[in-house]
Amino acid sequence: GDEEEPTQMQFKVILLGDGSVGKTSTATRFTQGHFKRTYKQTIGLDFFIKRLVLPGEINVALQIWDIGGQSIGSKMISNYIYGADAIVLMYDITNYQSFRNLEDWMRLVRKVFSEGPMPHVALVANKCDLEHVRTVTKEKHNDFADENEFYSYSLSAKSGDNVRGTFHRLAADLAGVT
Ligand code: GDP
Repeated sequence: GDEEEPTQMQFKVILLGDGSVGKTSTATRFTQGHFKRTYKQTIGLDFFIKRLVLPGEINVALQIWDIGGQSIGSKMISNYIYGADAIVLMYDITNYQSFRNLEDWMRLVRKVFSEGPMPHVALVANKCDLEHVRTVTKEKHNDFADENEFYSYSLSAKSGDNVRGTFHRLAADLAGVT
């Protein structure tokens, strides 16, 4: 018939960063809308699908891959990163080491994509509800984002602040919607 299915764009987004920066909490908050307090080291791999409708009735499905507490040394990480449309580099604003280690995470990403074009990379500062104990300054964040031409966001998985905004902006950038 003449009926057309609405086109559905799908993007693979992988959350990277040190253990306990809040990757699982952010993915859970965004996809299920709540914040889980208990900390469970993610053993395998979780992935969530979230469907969004962008301005212009553009339907986008984000496949959000969460490596949980897996370390950068895990042999499986490269396989997860492979084929990503977007990388979310997440750190905890109260943990300077988690920010510094993003250099190592980026090195791994560059290695995985050494043969092809780099995916979209977003630098995400989490735990913005803990502003009073912040150890990574906004200036450091902005410098790092500018030097690498990363998209830049800050949010709180705990309060929910800017979680939806971040993923909607990311989806719009991936879909080429301005
Ligand atoms: P992951 O290892 O990166 O997946 O981190 P988790 O999502 O498991 O979170 C690690 C710990 O940080 C848990 O105790 C969470 O409750 C806590 N956490 C995560 N996001 C936030 C946040 O935005 N603010 C605060 N205050 N704590 C958070």
